[in-house]
Amino acid sequence: MQGRVLVVAGSDSGGAAGIQADIKTITALGAYAMTAITALTAQNSRGVFGVHAVPVDFIARQMQLVLDDYGADVVKTGMLHATEVIETVCATLDGAAAGLPLVADPVMFAKGGDALLDTAAIGALRALLLPRAYLLTPNRREAELLAGCPIDSVDDLRRAAERLLELGPSAVLVKGGHLDGETVSDVLLSRDGEQVFTHTRVASVHTGGTGCSLASAIASGLAQRLVLADAVRRGLDYVQQAIVSAPGFGGGRGPVDHAHTVQP
Ligand code: PLP
Repeated sequence: MQGRVLVVAGSDSGGAAGIQADIKTITALGAYAMTAITALTAQNSRGVFGVHAVPVDFIARQMQLVLDDYGADVVKTGMLHATEVIETVCATLDGAAAGLPLVADPVMFAKGGDALLDTAAIGALRALLLPRAYLLTPNRREAELLAGCPIDSVDDLRRAAERLLELGPSAVLVKGGHLDGETVSDVLLSRDGEQVFTHTRVASVHTGGTGCSLASAIASGLAQRLVLADAVRRGLDYVQQAIVSAPGFGGGRGPVDHAHTVQP
């Protein structure tokens, strides 16, 4: 085992996304997962039926106690559902987690479209979380809302990445999986330049947890001292295989698989 990742995110009772996907991914890739849970969600593959928020001082306490004792190599954030959660997590990042690289997945919606972020909190994500991120990993809709521009093509993904980079992260991975087409392109932009990762689309409704898993896979790679482009490449391969071997559970958008053989 190599690399410690502290995940700050919500729980998915269905085990597809959120903290559960994060732990499964980080473990499969040979790193160590720690968690500060921001909210419990009651959900299955058909939708999110309830959200139970964790008090913000308790979120900070979870982060501080594990950082003080175990330490971490990378912090990964997922569902930070409200402004006060974003404020508290960012304050703790500046304190107990100062200097650690942050992989920020700006979670806004579950796969079925249910909101996981108060829309009034988008401004707080933009103003507080983005400047602290080493890597930001928005999907099409999240990038549209954060960058304020429509995305209908790979060129639009590139433009959104440029706008988002101006908001402060060191790098941005704008994911193109929600665009139409037989291939999927994801645009990685940092101050070192742009890299487009293109792969064949795996057509499936069972994609629950892909966003969380990709961000956690990249966080694991960074914790294991891979350079960013290699961590992204390995993360994309991991998620691609996770979709291919999804178990088909549930009557809606079911989970991907984390038991496939991977090269840690
Ligand atoms: N975080 C939580 C707690 C969730 O429940 C979800 C989706 O349901 C997500 C994040 C985002 O999931 P995905 O990786 O499928 O985009």
